[in-house]
Amino acid sequence: MSQQAINKVVVAGGGTAGWMTACALASQLGHYLNVVLVESENIPTVGVGEATIPTMQTFHLLLQLPEQEFMRATNATFKLGIEFENWGAIGESYFHSFGETGRDFWAGQFQHFWLRERLNGGQFSYADYSPETQAARAGKFAITKNPRLGFAYHLDAGLYAKYLRRVSESRGVTRIEGKIQTVKLEPNSGNIEALQMADGQLIDGDLFIDCTGFRGLLIEQTLHAGYEDWSHQFLCDSAVAVQTESTGELPPFTRSIARESGWQWRIPLQHRVGNGFVFASGAIGDTEATDTLLQNVVGKPLNDPRVIRFRPGKRRKTWVKNCVALGLASGFIEPLESTSIHLVSSAVIRLMRMLPLTGLCAQDIETYNRATDKELAAVRDFVLLHYKQTRRTDSDFWRYCQQMQVPDSLQDRLDIYRDSGRIYWDSDELFTVNSWNQVMLGQGVMPRHYHPAADIMPQADFAAQMAKVRQSVQQMVAQLPTHQNFLQSYCEPQ
Ligand code: FAD
Repeated sequence: MSQQAINKVVVAGGGTAGWMTACALASQLGHYLNVVLVESENIPTVGVGEATIPTMQTFHLLLQLPEQEFMRATNATFKLGIEFENWGAIGESYFHSFGETGRDFWAGQFQHFWLRERLNGGQFSYADYSPETQAARAGKFAITKNPRLGFAYHLDAGLYAKYLRRVSESRGVTRIEGKIQTVKLEPNSGNIEALQMADGQLIDGDLFIDCTGFRGLLIEQTLHAGYEDWSHQFLCDSAVAVQTESTGELPPFTRSIARESGWQWRIPLQHRVGNGFVFASGAIGDTEATDTLLQNVVGKPLNDPRVIRFRPGKRRKTWVKNCVALGLASGFIEPLESTSIHLVSSAVIRLMRMLPLTGLCAQDIETYNRATDKELAAVRDFVLLHYKQTRRTDSDFWRYCQQMQVPDSLQDRLDIYRDSGRIYWDSDELFTVNSWNQVMLGQGVMPRHYHPAADIMPQADFAAQMAKVRQSVQQMVAQLPTHQNFLQSYCEPQ
């Protein structure tokens, strides 16, 4: 497509996505690339996005960001998973934990053994075998080795971008302040040539990363990538967010509370709590949504509630010509499973692996776009599962969700699980078998059968084995400190 070597990368936008990208490029390829980031102090970032998943640990290892330094800088807390309340039915709750539940045996995944117990009258829940769930419910946490608790973080989004900016600049990223006025294209190739700033400055580059948020200034407004709209499956298109004072002990988990026309998040940080209500604007107005949120927060509000609109879906192509969109510029799946920040990190890693060396290549671009689509489709299915499998009938919103048609990939998974307890999983999928199990069961999908190999062990031995696993979970949790105490000593100023 072009023989021009990629030496200079321009990142447009300095929100979480922009700074994650700049920091990754500078940390891994700074010896080879000139990295420039352009942002405008007058155009605010989205300002939310505070719950993460465990892959952030790997991303930070790659960037060589020391955990304690990062946690102090962003007032972060630990997250063992998400408590889903009122999702299957009003009054029910379940926990989607990180890490592993139970122990897989040679013949199959742990759920088959749990199903043997349960379908034969056992009373123990799947969660009784999950160290993370039990620790979360006891308000406990520590970084452990054997077994290792699976965890992620809650962080202050504004502080995270500032922290990454500091690190990035120290690693050679050049930051340019100002508003991008227009995007100039090369007339022959249609590639982006330069960003024209409001003050007249021209910023040229070989590769441009669009991190300008929902507006997609480069990828959509200039290169017209197109958008695949998913609003027929994701009814929520708005959120209202407010921060409140912390009250009481800090729980090591996110709360997701389903309401009549959407759901509410509660994210504990060291210095405050992040709250939001994700809702369908077709079902509830902004004023009522804001009232619903304010009636259901604990602690004094610290700012005025702010409404954010979004369009569920994704760009038809996230890499077009010499422009790659990351973060909100590339599309958005609502934050029910805290996936957006992860998707930024996985996309930037994919991009670095595929970085064009001797010029842009159409096959690279195709491959990148296909991999991105596959990744997003799997996340979409997992998030949709929560809606599709509700048994709530108390509003048009939930009735629609129950009856809506979902992609075949999800419907097949549901049918197979319901029938046989099996989950087929691709090793590059984000959500593991354990995640699918927890949400399937939590939403009330109970398999009718389990694998016959789970019956190999004589009943007395089997019962003893299962009891041993439960006891080891309890013993481990009993030894843990509270999350609050662990956090205080771990993040103590030095
Ligand atoms: P933005 O934060 O919008 O940043 C855009 C940047 O572009 C800004 O720096 C702006 O100044 C710059 N810019 C734009 N136009 C111009 C211009 N003309 N000139 C110069 N600069 C410009 N993700 C999670 O992982 N976990 C969560 O819990 C979570 N919760 C969310 C809740 C809600 C309601 C929403 C909407 C999103 C949530 N997300 C969550 C997603 C997460 O917030 C984003 O993925 C993340 O913040 C990245 O945003 P961004 O950097 O792409 O965009």
